[in-house]
Amino acid sequence: MVSAGGDTIAAVSTGSAVSAIGIVRVSGPDTLRLADAVFTPADGRAMSAHADRQLVFGTLRDSEGQMLDVCLCTISRGPGSYTGEDTAELQCHGSPTVLRAALETLFSLGARQALAGEFTKRAFLNGRMDLTAAEAVIDLIEAETVPAARNAAGQLGGAVCRRAERVYESVAGICSHYHAVLDYPEEDVPPFRMEEYAGTLDAHAAELRALRDSFARGRFLEKGVRTAIAGKPNVGKSSLLNALLGYERAIVTDIPGTTRDTLSERCVLGGTVLRLTDTSGLRETEDVVEKLGVARAAEAVRESDLLLAVFDLSRPLDGDDEETLALAAEAPRRIAVVNKADLPPAWDPAVLAPRFDAVCTVSAREGTGLDALRAAVEEAFPVPVTAAGEILTNARQADAVSRAADALEGAVSALRGGYPPDAVLTECEAALSALAELTGRSVRADITEGIFSRFCVGK
Ligand code: GDP
Repeated sequence: MVSAGGDTIAAVSTGSAVSAIGIVRVSGPDTLRLADAVFTPADGRAMSAHADRQLVFGTLRDSEGQMLDVCLCTISRGPGSYTGEDTAELQCHGSPTVLRAALETLFSLGARQALAGEFTKRAFLNGRMDLTAAEAVIDLIEAETVPAARNAAGQLGGAVCRRAERVYESVAGICSHYHAVLDYPEEDVPPFRMEEYAGTLDAHAAELRALRDSFARGRFLEKGVRTAIAGKPNVGKSSLLNALLGYERAIVTDIPGTTRDTLSERCVLGGTVLRLTDTSGLRETEDVVEKLGVARAAEAVRESDLLLAVFDLSRPLDGDDEETLALAAEAPRRIAVVNKADLPPAWDPAVLAPRFDAVCTVSAREGTGLDALRAAVEEAFPVPVTAAGEILTNARQADAVSRAADALEGAVSALRGGYPPDAVLTECEAALSALAELTGRSVRADITEGIFSRFCVGK
């Protein structure tokens, strides 16, 4: 019999590869019944008779009662669980076959396959986390550097939400006062304190502007720096690329799921991820000058965040290098990489200084000078030093914060310009609705759908 099971979801949360441990997650009103049906604790008591968050040893069985695994189970009852509903986690051996069989048993008993991000979506819908925290979950899972993970963890802990809520409550308080004065003129409502309100709204606008401005850097933290490598043939672009890929390779290869293929598109320099191509693969784009023609190369450079312009120190600069220099002028940020420093120099790299943010002399062959290149990249894209979670990394959030800041500025101008109260109120309410969108107090369904579709199944 399927009871409320139609509303109970299940999924493997640990991916599909063979691993030491694999976790099946269940959430919904039928969870405890399902846990009792598939899991037999070794202590002889039903799983549902155990306390929340207790790890219970026992056996996992299929719908015919056949043993599938000897493993652990834990339950967490709503509303205090991750999703806000009754949830269970089966911590099995990480065999995809066992996990699949466990899932199929749960389906046969009434659960259904969870959609991508559905556990976190339920957490959001049940008020267990605001929208910025829900977005931080996916950012944390996908973080490629420690600073990015730290920031996402801070947002998961509510760093953005707390700020937004503080401003929301304060502006809502001012709006209530306005409403009271406008709607009940004959009542003895305390008069407006114009200057005080203007000061408060101004301070909130400044705080939101600072948060919005953090996005300029946060975007790089989250998405990495789109980096084009350019230079005439034989200056050592491929060699530089290989040297960069080798740099910090030990750390990069520790990240599960990174393959040589993805490595060839990204490298980590300090806290910064460089995406060395965003198009068809570096082999096609590395010789941008050569293969795409100057116009298309210029376009590729304009679309990147950083250009590494490579020169050969062992041969005099020539007309082809001039093309690289012209290309560099199009780049939003540019670093000259003067290569082959292991050979006798034919010119002075200092001549490039006026045209670049930094000039780094390296030997891609020997692997020297890369620390200076790393320092130059870090200087061009500093990892902001703020409390964890206080950097916006998400365009949706930055847009909402920006609209809220603009509206508050509008309210301050209306207040100081002596406009009628309605004008101030309209701006304040626009700010409130932008902040409500940010945290998900009120947000359009298609926006939430878009957010949760980015998740993996089982999260
Ligand atoms: P690309 O055409 O710009 O990609 O240049 P490559 O990376 O293919 O290098 C061209 C040639 O320069 C190859 O023979 C490399 O071995 C050599 N080369 C690259 N980097 C260095 C370096 O730092 N020192 C020396 N001596 N040779 C280098």
